[in-house]
Amino acid sequence: MTLTRLAEDERVRAAYPSVAYAASTISTPLLRNMGTIGGNLLLDTRCNYYDQSFEWRKSIDFCMKRDGDICWVAPSSPVCWAVNSSDEAPLMVALDAKLRFISPDGEREVSARELYGADGINYLTKRPDELLVDIHLPAVNGWRATYVKLRRRASFDFPVLGVAARVKTAADGTVEEATIVLGAVHPSPMIVKEAGAALVGRRLTDEAIAEAGEIAQHQARPLDNTDFLPHWRKQVVSTYVGRALRELR
Ligand code: SF4
Repeated sequence: MTLTRLAEDERVRAAYPSVAYAASTISTPLLRNMGTIGGNLLLDTRCNYYDQSFEWRKSIDFCMKRDGDICWVAPSSPVCWAVNSSDEAPLMVALDAKLRFISPDGEREVSARELYGADGINYLTKRPDELLVDIHLPAVNGWRATYVKLRRRASFDFPVLGVAARVKTAADGTVEEATIVLGAVHPSPMIVKEAGAALVGRRLTDEAIAEAGEIAQHQARPLDNTDFLPHWRKQVVSTYVGRALRELR
């Protein structure tokens, strides 16, 4: 399933417009014609010290994600902080999608919430001999979802912050369930449970949205290994959470 097909599929656009929209924001039209939803979900983690030529990496004596022993972003860290820069991954986590993998040993279903690891080197629980063959999205049962993305060039960049939000409201607008997931600030999509919990039982008022945004901002830990300054990327988390929730409202 190429990203172009996913973005243009009428069934997806009708039932899961956020999934179609996120696909339409990935890379360029030419690459969306070749790249697939599976490829985007299994994307390698990214870091300014890793997404370089062999000679560039050799000039700094490499880093532990490949060929070296140290993390240049956080030198005392035992784990790699390269970021998950998939646009669809935060959404699949927010939607609680189920992924089916097949291998010579059989098949298994994995929740998107269990697929990603907190280490930029071991960033997937998928085994090398497994192929992703199906993605199962939950039935739309009164919830709505959206995705907003920060990047330098709106035409084709990777996200340096992505916010996926899923909300289910009662007839009077009271939030019954809310899930907020941050992308591109951590080696895995980050569910900000407290931000979602802060919305439950309330309407999506400006005050409730601001509170959820502040909680998400407090928990986001962008590091200095992608575009833009990390403290600014942290500062705008509440703005982007606010945009996502106001769109859902
Ligand atoms: S976060 Fe550290 S270990 Fe990971 S790719 Fe960047 S420099 Fe290398």
